[in-house]
Amino acid sequence: MKHILKLIILGISLIVLNSCYYRPFITYTLNKRDFKHFSKREKIAGNNANPQRDYHINKYDWNVKVFPEKRKISGKMIIYFTPNSEQNTFLFDLQNKMKINSFTCSVKNLKIKRNRDLMYLVFENNVPKNTRISLVINYEGKPANVFGQGPIIWKFDKHKRPWISTSTEGIGPQFIMPCNALLNAEADSCNINITIPKDLIAVANGKLKKVINNNNSTKTYNYSITNPINIYNISFNIGHFKKIIKPYKDINGVEREIECQVLDYNYDIANKFYDQVPIIMHEFEKMFGEFPWWNDGCKFIESNFTAMEHQSGIAMGNDYATYGDAYNITLVHELAHEWWGNNITGKDYCDIWIHEGFATYAEALFSEKLSGKKLYEKHIAHDIKSIKNTIPLYKKCDVLYNSWTNSADQDIYKKGSLLVHSLRMVVNNDSLFFNSLHTIQKDFKQQNVSTKEIINKFNKLLENDYSELFDWYLNRTEPPILQVVIDKEKGELHYKWKEEILFFKHGKITLQNHENLITLMPTLNYQTYRVKDVQINNFLIEKSIYYKVKVLKRKTI
Ligand SMILES: [Zn+2]
Repeated sequence: MKHILKLIILGISLIVLNSCYYRPFITYTLNKRDFKHFSKREKIAGNNANPQRDYHINKYDWNVKVFPEKRKISGKMIIYFTPNSEQNTFLFDLQNKMKINSFTCSVKNLKIKRNRDLMYLVFENNVPKNTRISLVINYEGKPANVFGQGPIIWKFDKHKRPWISTSTEGIGPQFIMPCNALLNAEADSCNINITIPKDLIAVANGKLKKVINNNNSTKTYNYSITNPINIYNISFNIGHFKKIIKPYKDINGVEREIECQVLDYNYDIANKFYDQVPIIMHEFEKMFGEFPWWNDGCKFIESNFTAMEHQSGIAMGNDYATYGDAYNITLVHELAHEWWGNNITGKDYCDIWIHEGFATYAEALFSEKLSGKKLYEKHIAHDIKSIKNTIPLYKKCDVLYNSWTNSADQDIYKKGSLLVHSLRMVVNNDSLFFNSLHTIQKDFKQQNVSTKEIINKFNKLLENDYSELFDWYLNRTEPPILQVVIDKEKGELHYKWKEEILFFKHGKITLQNHENLITLMPTLNYQTYRVKDVQINNFLIEKSIYYKVKVLKRKTI
């Protein structure tokens, strides 16, 4: 008994001692499901208008040494940045567990002050605007890891060799490197140099420039990304990889190569699996325009977690499953992010529904292009089932928070997709709708756009004001509600909209009555339709805007 007590006390002490370490995870699991309350630090860090963030990142030169056995990294980050206004303090991000060993800066008399995950560069004198500053930070640490998960995922392949992946979306890139973690602060370009034990291979975004054999037992892999890149897309992968090349003729007729880096023992299965990529790529180039990163290449890298849209170096899990239609829908989704999320990026994390909503909708579009409207509708019907409608898609802007453990926010995927589907249904003009997707990709190329900007752009391109539609799906918790009363005795269905839907005023919905499809036009007043055994799934929501059916016991006003 005494031993058990001791163990409990020891356990509690360890948790308390490590509370800094676990705090982000515990807080966000327990308290932050409403996305309404944020700490002072989160507001400071996330404030896009914070004058201390008023600078432009020209380049990240990230040199990271990885120690698989110690699950540790040491790094030298060179940040090239330019102030947009004259000032002496600049705010960056670095998680407090990462220790700064030394730093140098091209502008003299710099102090680095840290407040938890906030990293302030404080110069003795004001730095004039447009001064090109280079800052070198040498740092090291053990990135946070909770139950095997974290920004760096340390695993072993099936031959018990190290297999390491990174994924910082949600948890934050500052957990592994000094940076500006805001979505709006994309660097113009980036180098990723990874030093690892000699027997391993490192793969990152962009193009491999060289591999250096160091004097000790390590190698350094140098990758270069020449395009602007989202901060959470900067990544590396380490393992025993083997390269597969899939030739592809792009939409302009240029011969390209799609590179796949897979674990050596998965070469054959992966080689077959990745035959689908040129087909998906071709459809997306037709729908959204030229692949945005040919100059940095297109690469898929086998990762030890499901998948992640790392720009020009997409992380793909290793299940190599294709389903009924022989396409892997996760792969379709991740590739779609190269346009929706990477080419067009939200201005703030509150705009991230743009990334997930359009990438998820692209899955349905790809199904439709390949197999027709039936598969599209099946896809949409499937999406509808998993929507939670517990918090709005559009959340508080200007806060930087760790949403890593938060599952309440998953509607940005499927409901985001249903928003785009609803827009298409209301527009009811496919050539106009698809042209707008194409034009948005061109006009907002490599830009950060806000939700407001994307709505205004759609309104212009679609030649009508759809703000109310966006507002309903983005800012309300519930979609439009169809109230129905089923009178089994009389064999009658009574139906009406709960509230007026201006963007769908004369819109029609479809009811499946045995073999027949019935078109109904609900209004704000009850209408009656004679039908037997009607159930919720008789309403084919996939054929209209996204709405919810609520069955009432009796008619209400
Ligand atoms: Zn996604």
